[in-house]
Amino acid sequence: MAHHRATRAEIDLQAFRHNFQNLRNHLGSKIKIMAVVKADGYGHGALPCARIAVECGADYLGAGVVEEGIELRQSGIDTPILVLGSIFPDEAEDLVRHDLATIVCTLSLAQALAKAAEKQNKTVSVHIKIDTGMNRLGVTPENLPELLNQICELPNLKLEGISTHFASADDEDLSITQAQLKKFHTALTILQNDDVPIIHSANTSALFKFPESHFDMVRPGLILYGALPSPSLQAILNEKENLSPFQPVMQWKSQIILVKSISKGQPISYSGSFTTKRDSLIATLPIGYADGLHRSLSNKMEVLIRGKRAPQIGNICMDMTLIDVTDIQDVQAEDEIVLFGKQGDQLIAVEEMATKGDTIAYEILCNVGKRVPRVYLNE
Ligand SMILES: *Cc1c(COP(=O)(O)O)cnc(C)c1O
Repeated sequence: MAHHRATRAEIDLQAFRHNFQNLRNHLGSKIKIMAVVKADGYGHGALPCARIAVECGADYLGAGVVEEGIELRQSGIDTPILVLGSIFPDEAEDLVRHDLATIVCTLSLAQALAKAAEKQNKTVSVHIKIDTGMNRLGVTPENLPELLNQICELPNLKLEGISTHFASADDEDLSITQAQLKKFHTALTILQNDDVPIIHSANTSALFKFPESHFDMVRPGLILYGALPSPSLQAILNEKENLSPFQPVMQWKSQIILVKSISKGQPISYSGSFTTKRDSLIATLPIGYADGLHRSLSNKMEVLIRGKRAPQIGNICMDMTLIDVTDIQDVQAEDEIVLFGKQGDQLIAVEEMATKGDTIAYEILCNVGKRVPRVYLNE
């Protein structure tokens, strides 16, 4: 095809590399790093990001579902991969076939895994997950000793890790995570000193806010993509030693497809949620909610054009979006616009879009649609 789609996500792989190495410098060499590449690498492309993480010495990769793990294996990645969500018993055979590990919190799943492994004459690695307060997956601390004993007796099954997950590490209130950490510590005291598996708990926020959550391995996701789980984390990062700024990996861009004059008092787009208050110059962009631009951002967000901010107006459509460029000089069709990223000396961070859309950077990034080509820079 001669023409690439104008709406595109530019992925700076050098920024991803920097972010991984930055984290490695900060942590030192003793703590293992699981690079979390679930949800297609938070929308950045799981494989290109996994390749760089592996090149930079990632000890483990984190997938969300079995299919994501299989895709990485079929692309030649042979680093250990943990499926972070739980799986159904009928997924056990595929999991074992592709040498993936998963978390377990029930005996029935552990048995299904052992059976699949036995059938294939292999050993499957599992990580027990303890529920310390997320109240989602995981075995309760009270039921841990029994599950641990049962699992250790199963053939073809190796207990490789013990983990937990924090519910509120992103929040200002530290007490919830502190209580979870305490519960986790207490639960771990039943482990014998010999053959202690990999203990892990920290996501991005916990890793910076609670160094005592590092244990043997950390599980960063969002920070590798250069985004922050919450605005307040920035101040904490600024205080850290051996840490330089993380760099945003993705920039979301498009191009104006049409510019036209609309007179004062005209309703704009579906349902006329915006009416022009003056004679206006309105530009159409070939991007809509089918590309992952949340409709809830309608009349709230801004974009960059010719190095300046312009407001988005009217309801965001499936394939198109309108912006008011009346105040910007010399706007023309095909001008580049930035939804998040840099242009000239202006920046719209993905976190800004998330705040305006009443969501978090995670959701914006992993919802950038399939239809949006990823353009890789600095491979
Ligand atoms: C997604 C996920 C992570 C990574 O979280 P970030 O906040 O993106 O660092 C870590 N652990 C588990 C269990 C996860 O599901």
